[in-house]
Amino acid sequence: MNFSTKIEEIPGIGSVYGKRLKGMGIKTLADLIYYFPREYKDFSKISKIKDVKINEKACVQGKIISLEQQKTWVKKMIVTSALIQDDTGAIELIWFNQPYLNKVLKVGDEIIVAGKLAIQNRSLQISSPIFEKTSSKETTHLGRIMAIYPETQGVSSRYLRWVIKPIIKIIKEKIPETLPHEVIDKYDLLPLKEALEQVHFPSSLELAKKAEQRFSFEQIFFISLFNLKKKYEIKKEQSISIPLNKELIERVKNSLPFELTKAQKKTLDEILKDMEKPNPMNRLLQGDVGSGKTAVAALASINAVKAKTQVVLMAPTEILVKQHFKTFFQMLKTFNLNVGLLTGKEDKYYSKKLHNDTIEISRNKLLEKTEKGEIDILIGTQALIVNDKKKKEGQKVKFKNLGLVIVDEQHRFGVKQRAALQKNREKIPHLLSMTATPIPRSLALTVWGDLDLSIIDEMPKNRKKIITEIVSEKQREKKYEFIKKEITKGGQVFVVCPRIESDEEEEEEIKTVKKEYDYLSKKVFPEFKLAMLHGKMTSKEKDKIMKDFRNKKYNILVSTSVIEVGIDIPNATVMMIEGSDRFGLSQLHQFRGRVGRGDQQSYCLLFTDSRSKKTRERLGAMIKYDSGFKLSEMDLKLRGPGDFFGIRQWGLPDFAMNALKDIKKTKMAREAAEEIFPQLEKYPLLKRRLEAFEEKVHLE
Ligand code: ADP
Ligand code: MG
Repeated sequence: MNFSTKIEEIPGIGSVYGKRLKGMGIKTLADLIYYFPREYKDFSKISKIKDVKINEKACVQGKIISLEQQKTWVKKMIVTSALIQDDTGAIELIWFNQPYLNKVLKVGDEIIVAGKLAIQNRSLQISSPIFEKTSSKETTHLGRIMAIYPETQGVSSRYLRWVIKPIIKIIKEKIPETLPHEVIDKYDLLPLKEALEQVHFPSSLELAKKAEQRFSFEQIFFISLFNLKKKYEIKKEQSISIPLNKELIERVKNSLPFELTKAQKKTLDEILKDMEKPNPMNRLLQGDVGSGKTAVAALASINAVKAKTQVVLMAPTEILVKQHFKTFFQMLKTFNLNVGLLTGKEDKYYSKKLHNDTIEISRNKLLEKTEKGEIDILIGTQALIVNDKKKKEGQKVKFKNLGLVIVDEQHRFGVKQRAALQKNREKIPHLLSMTATPIPRSLALTVWGDLDLSIIDEMPKNRKKIITEIVSEKQREKKYEFIKKEITKGGQVFVVCPRIESDEEEEEEIKTVKKEYDYLSKKVFPEFKLAMLHGKMTSKEKDKIMKDFRNKKYNILVSTSVIEVGIDIPNATVMMIEGSDRFGLSQLHQFRGRVGRGDQQSYCLLFTDSRSKKTRERLGAMIKYDSGFKLSEMDLKLRGPGDFFGIRQWGLPDFAMNALKDIKKTKMAREAAEEIFPQLEKYPLLKRRLEAFEEKVHLE
């Protein structure tokens, strides 16, 4: 037996359980021993029978002195009853419909049982206790700390403990350590052998915890190594060095109708400095909605263009692309450059000679111009990388001299899609990713560790604060009246329906939206026009609704949490969120960012019927803070990292997700990876593990 032994070939498992385990994703021996408990129950203390109290859970050990099985008359149940005795007293045990017990147990057996003690017919009784025979010296389930696994039908924790125990005993001595010894020593981690044993069969709760800590450290360590490797590999490539044209940048800055914020200036500097290097930039620009990322991107673009290279910008939706096209046009119109627009829709494409008017040209013409280098900045949707006919991603548009790739709302694209614009070129263009997802820095450094980070952590000054309120059921009618007034004044309203956390999440959510839409259209706002948006719509349908909403065809948009990112609806003044307590703070903050994009005072109404103090406090943070980073840090502490984009892709087990909450520990594992990475050659085993890890992390 070794790590790669197939699950059904492990002695004692057989084909039935082999199938069930495979259904849980456990295909090999390694998968099995890395299937970790979700919690522990402490059954290490065995009480004397006389000390057990009625209605309390207890664990006792005794000898079976009688055993019988009967069928009840009324309900036709098989009842097994046994009497066990220790040197202080006796207790009756009773099980229902478990006929096999007659074969498993016999009079004279010594067993440990656990369950709740009750009085039945004046005798002490435990009903349906868990039990274990104590023929061996060392128990697997009771009389110790017991591991409880995430269970699925047909595979109980009891079964898992039973199969894992002997395997660990057998292979323990053969398990090679996966972490370098100096890391284990320096960070006081449990060695792998011990950690594997302790995680399944802990000798104390402290050791169980330490085992978990070792494994989460290891996970974060590997993610960090993996990212460092990616970062190192891209930095080795050749890129076009784009000199910083200070005079030009100053001129563009001065032509803007506003002064850049300090944060915008700082991030722009970081980007421009990176682009001067002969190796590709790989940078993520992170900033709240409305923090002015586009302006930074446009400035970087003009610097690239004036150095005779081309720029391509990809955004996830057609409206966003058109929005960017307009912004670039306005910002750069006096600088005499050509901007092209390419979307997947129709076969019409525009090109703009910025000092002139928009000209409509065919796609072929646009592609031709791009290839000849006549288009300086090409802005588009996925159509930039998807070949229409084969629907395959790859290099599609040809450039003469591509210097800078910009990807907006990067989390909406897969890693491969992002890379498609960069790869297969003689010189790798610089990459600037942008995201409005605020995620705490400590996490971003881990999850996006292959990218360099630039953070815009301040908003332009003139912004009106969005008035945020927590609204209880009692105030609902009053708020509806308020909304009517806002609409009459020309404002538009978003209604976000509560998040549903169930198996049929999406179906349920759509039902809720439809119901809410019907109710609001008929009963509350019959005089207004409403539209509805949900995740089962195609992106074309969603795009159309957003476009119509922006063109004021509707007053109210009722939506699930799918409302598109980044889109400007300048007239939207009210964001009303139902069941707001069910969302994370960073998500609420994202919703709030949909309003307040125009000159009007805007409002964010957080509806909740929860009266819990904790919920009130959490939602209260929305009133107190405007910063997405601040709110996401709170989210991380209160709810863990599960709500953040980009984290799920790592497929981390729950305990490692939980470990990410701990900023200090996360940082330690990352530092350890940084120390080891330059000497990776010294650790052939670690290198191989890393390669296996790379294969296992399916990034899409
Ligand atoms: P986002 O970071 O969400 O992409 P945008 O770049 O779309 O933000 O900027 C939002 C709005 O703020 C735009 O209308 C833009 O013109 C404006 N803006 C950007 N920077 C500043 C600034 N420094 N001062 C004032 N307004 C700004
Ligand atoms: Mg934007």
